[in-house]
Amino acid sequence: MSAKYIYRMDDITPTMNWKRFWQYINLFEEHGVKPLLGIVPDNKDPKLMIEESKQDFWETMRRLQADGIVEICQHGYQHVYVNKEGGLLGPKYGFKAQSEFAGLSYEDQYKKIEAGKEILQREKIYTDVWMAPSHSFDNNTLKALYELGFRAVTDGIALFPYNYKRMDFVPQQYWGPQNVFVGIVTICLHTDTVEEALYDKIKKHLESDLKFISFSEARNFKSTHATNLLNRIFNFYYMFRSWFNENKTILKTKRMIKKVIRKS
Ligand SMILES: [Zn+2]
Repeated sequence: MSAKYIYRMDDITPTMNWKRFWQYINLFEEHGVKPLLGIVPDNKDPKLMIEESKQDFWETMRRLQADGIVEICQHGYQHVYVNKEGGLLGPKYGFKAQSEFAGLSYEDQYKKIEAGKEILQREKIYTDVWMAPSHSFDNNTLKALYELGFRAVTDGIALFPYNYKRMDFVPQQYWGPQNVFVGIVTICLHTDTVEEALYDKIKKHLESDLKFISFSEARNFKSTHATNLLNRIFNFYYMFRSWFNENKTILKTKRMIKKVIRKS
């Protein structure tokens, strides 16, 4: 029952930082670790336009998937935030309140997810896994996803995968190498913007004795009463931690205590 780790790479587009992309893909391949790539089907987010659009983007993605080097999921539709909705996760877990989907009507969400799925299918990329931009989705998103054939989500604050609204959730909790006692941890990387130093930390993580698995392996996990209970405890701890880290009064008090200690 030792901990297992998954890596995912968000914001995969034809205009991403390709040097960084290959740096990480090669690192994962060397260590036999299969990351989950989140492709934005029709990116319109200027923040994800780092380089000139690469013409062989889809061919590259198909090849990486066919060679078993990566797994692929749908990361939203256009990656453009249309409101300040945090959805089911949101600020209480430290996520920004902004969404491409949450808060919109079921019909609108369905149309956007479908448009994205159609682009992937046109490019012969098939997936039933969903990655929400800014971790923001609501029950209408999940309903539309289910109706469109999606069955798994890479998100959620928990220690073990769980089922919610007919979808298999594989939780995503951290943004850098992490060691936990038990559970399935997904580490999320934004290779467009990661700091250089993270590469070496991830390399060390991959070289350790820890167990790395793919998203597909994790989604088959069967939850039990015990894992559901541990999920609740972890969820509570995580919420408290986010609140504690962001609460201005507590931050001020912490700073004051540090000052007093330094002076004494
Ligand atoms: Zn994103």
